[in-house]
Amino acid sequence: MTIASLATILNQARQNNQAIAGLVVLGWEDITAFIAAAEAENMPVILQAGPGCRAHTPLPVLGAMFRYAAERASVPIVCHLDHGYEIQEIEEAIQSGFSSVMIDGSKKPLSQNIEITGHVVSIAHRAGVSVEGEIGIVGYTDGLSSQGTEPDEAARLARETGVDALAISAGNTHLQTQASAIIDEVLVEKIAQRIECPIVLHGGSGIPHSVRRRLARKGLVSKFNIGTELRQVFGSTLRKTLDEDPNIFDRLTILKTLQAPLCDATRHIIANLK
Ligand SMILES: [Zn+2]
Repeated sequence: MTIASLATILNQARQNNQAIAGLVVLGWEDITAFIAAAEAENMPVILQAGPGCRAHTPLPVLGAMFRYAAERASVPIVCHLDHGYEIQEIEEAIQSGFSSVMIDGSKKPLSQNIEITGHVVSIAHRAGVSVEGEIGIVGYTDGLSSQGTEPDEAARLARETGVDALAISAGNTHLQTQASAIIDEVLVEKIAQRIECPIVLHGGSGIPHSVRRRLARKGLVSKFNIGTELRQVFGSTLRKTLDEDPNIFDRLTILKTLQAPLCDATRHIIANLK
């Protein structure tokens, strides 16, 4: 297949009452496991490079890795920059081959969020690249607290910027290690009625599978960002591998043992949303 645009993939998913997993990538091992899972489930996926990933590996390297893998996949793959904050990194992502970028202006006042998001949309759309914006604050466990999205503000930002997808805050929190979030589904529905573009929920790992499935089936949420849940699988499998064989030392031998468990867990996430 090929590299896909976020707009196309999410609009199709919404029409089919499905949602697409936005999978947090930290390295090449994640990419191969996630694509194998997407191919096995015959569903598109979004590979995401967030701030942590970019601090570890330069963006142009990530862009090349994402594209190389996407071009060889048998299902559509979106190469997405997660949580971009500055115009410079958005431009670098576009130059590095990403097919989608997120501009996170959610911590700015509404007018500034609209201004920077609209500017990113104009730059990205000229290059054929999709844009995800954010309104309302999605907090972090032990960090920044959340602030629910106001439907009026979401409607204004979506209308005035022309974003392709909008991340909202409705009880979701980043980095939750248990699926204990209580999503305000009435709020999600109110926002969905006010905007035309698909809705995104960050902090997907904290959202119970049954809730994700319901929101997808109703066509209310079209993208769930999933990071922690899969990093837990990676970490626990790695621990097991090292515990089971005290003589194992080669990195590639160790990492090979993670592929099947990571692929299986990803398949479970994708299958639940389709
Ligand atoms: Zn996020």
